[in-house]
Amino acid sequence: MTARILIVEDEESLAIMLRYNLEKEGFAVETSAHGDEADIRIRENPPDLAVIDWMLPGLSGIELVRRLRLRPETKQLPIIMLTARGEEPERIRGLATGADDYIVKPFSVPELLARVQALLRRAKPQSLASVLSVGDIQLDRDKKRALRAGREILLGPTEFRLLEFLMENVGRVYAREQVLNSVWGRDVYIDERTVDVHVGRLRKALNRGKETDPIRTVRGGGYAFDERYQS
Ligand code: CA
Repeated sequence: MTARILIVEDEESLAIMLRYNLEKEGFAVETSAHGDEADIRIRENPPDLAVIDWMLPGLSGIELVRRLRLRPETKQLPIIMLTARGEEPERIRGLATGADDYIVKPFSVPELLARVQALLRRAKPQSLASVLSVGDIQLDRDKKRALRAGREILLGPTEFRLLEFLMENVGRVYAREQVLNSVWGRDVYIDERTVDVHVGRLRKALNRGKETDPIRTVRGGGYAFDERYQS
């Protein structure tokens, strides 16, 4: 699996240099030169790791990191912050705000690559674990089994994939079309209402004898695995 890295840096020459070197290492790299724009892009499609410059036009790097940490879906996103020399007290604030690591400019490419590799190794995304666990629900990908409060939930293959997808992305809201693309695949042409039918079946199996429904229906037609269900 190719790790996706987003570089948020307004200094174009540096962004190009980083992109070139990270791509050479086999990463899929995207760049953004603006804090607010990066925020939107990360919200729409979170990368596996973000390299964020401290000084950015619009939303500052620190503020961007703070926002990302407040959202459940990017709470664990590995982040390396780039800072200018002489920002000592601020650097500490940067770490307190939630960056996992920081690098002082000017830095060498091997140094950055080493940090990126180390951070990716350290971050074990939920999406790679064989057992997903949210609240009283467990999903075992290898055994193709789902449990709620220790009791097996009987699911068809589509409902299983649907639950897996929602549990991998707790708190994130998906429109029907996005659910369709992720669970059924992009090249399958079926009616979006099919999603509703399968969510209905999933709910029925999941919530049998239970009062709480972990799946939230979003206004305008969409679904999310409710983040409040986590605790
Ligand atoms: Ca900058």
